[in-house]
Amino acid sequence: MKMKIIIEYEGNKASVVKEVFSFKREDLLPESLGLTLNEGKELLAKVQETMVTYQVEEYIDQQRNCSLCGREHSQKEKPKIPFRSLFGNLKLTSPRFYTCSCQPQTKKSFSPLAEKLPERTAPELLYLQTKWSSLMSYGMTVDLLEEVLPLSTNTTTVRLNSHKVAERIESELGDEQFMFIEGCERDWENLPEPDEPLTVGIDGGYVHARDGDNRKAGWFEVIVGKSMQNGSESKRFGFVANYDKKPKRRLFEMLKAQGLQFNQDITFLSDGGETVRNLQLYMSPQAEHILDWFHVTMRITVMKQMAKGLPSNEQFEDIDIEKNLERVKWYLWHGNVFRALQVLDDIQEDIYLYEYEEEAPTDKRVKKLDKAVDEFIIYIKNNQELIPNYRDRYFYGDTISTAFVESTVNEVVSRRMAKKQQMRWTKKGAHQMLQVRTQTLNDDLRDTFNRWYPGMPKIESTNCQSAQYQLN
Ligand SMILES: [Zn+2]
Repeated sequence: MKMKIIIEYEGNKASVVKEVFSFKREDLLPESLGLTLNEGKELLAKVQETMVTYQVEEYIDQQRNCSLCGREHSQKEKPKIPFRSLFGNLKLTSPRFYTCSCQPQTKKSFSPLAEKLPERTAPELLYLQTKWSSLMSYGMTVDLLEEVLPLSTNTTTVRLNSHKVAERIESELGDEQFMFIEGCERDWENLPEPDEPLTVGIDGGYVHARDGDNRKAGWFEVIVGKSMQNGSESKRFGFVANYDKKPKRRLFEMLKAQGLQFNQDITFLSDGGETVRNLQLYMSPQAEHILDWFHVTMRITVMKQMAKGLPSNEQFEDIDIEKNLERVKWYLWHGNVFRALQVLDDIQEDIYLYEYEEEAPTDKRVKKLDKAVDEFIIYIKNNQELIPNYRDRYFYGDTISTAFVESTVNEVVSRRMAKKQQMRWTKKGAHQMLQVRTQTLNDDLRDTFNRWYPGMPKIESTNCQSAQYQLN
């Protein structure tokens, strides 16, 4: 059996019937029933080439004559321009015409097609490259696209294109402001009934730095956050600490995208790091700022483990650092920072005994615990305004922990940017990756492209949020 695919072209000036592809089949086998992947790709490539050729010819034809006097432009040369489409890398004939003598001679010649297509990558291809490379490595993205589409690409192109998209997203972000609260109390009271309260978790994570060939370039900090609301999709944001110039604006735009009103309740939960602490201020008059209970307990647990490992000695029988740490936890749970700090002082004295009594040798383990307790005291002092009565909040069903933020670091950063040791980033590259990745995870990337390219077909939500868990 033979089958042919024929294209019937009906243009303004001519009609053409052209065979583009043919198939042969003999036995009916599961693998020969219908199109194979290769046939499908080849067919798409042929159809694309034919379609694009006619579209381009028609457009050039419309430009061939002077728009003022109607005389035909004389042609200077006929170079080809590359155009990377979803279904193949094309070379388009792009004639260069001399400017007609009746027109102002600002330019000697012009190339209508090249001017019509300033970007040489089809928006849908750009979209797919950006979307998939925000979910998996550049290499895997290239493999995926090349396997299912009749095109050839490479990691450099995908990376550069994704950066371009990130830069365009960045260029649309408004100016940084110290404060985002606007209006006064009377204005806020007149606002419509607000939506459900928002909960925003902010946390930091680390990625490997890249600095030329320097393998000891270390790490740098990235901040990510997620805003959650009952009954609606959550939104994320991310940036590289000490690199981003507009962190507050970024957070504010995320809140705006979730419909924040100034009369709406909003709770910020954070890990208590300095960058994160200042970021959340002046976003909303109804904001409540809480130190994440999960981070508090995690630190106490670590110190208890250290205390367990201390050398035992009859002389210190009465000293029970573990028990005192448990008391610290209890006081903090009830929001009693004052008492918690007093007990921490006691613990410091106990450690002092360990360190300086002649019976106890200066042990590394003691030093380590000493340092951890010092840091914890500073941490609690710096964050004391963010420490509520956790027990009461818990009792009334209010959020006390950002366990979900821990998972945000994992979701936004780790899965794409820290999975492997050899994944190293420049601050700029990491920041750009965070912008496209949060757009993809927030399910906003397609809308962004639709806004940039209004002719690009809209697609229903692809529900990336659930898809990406299976992917990575
Ligand atoms: Zn003319």
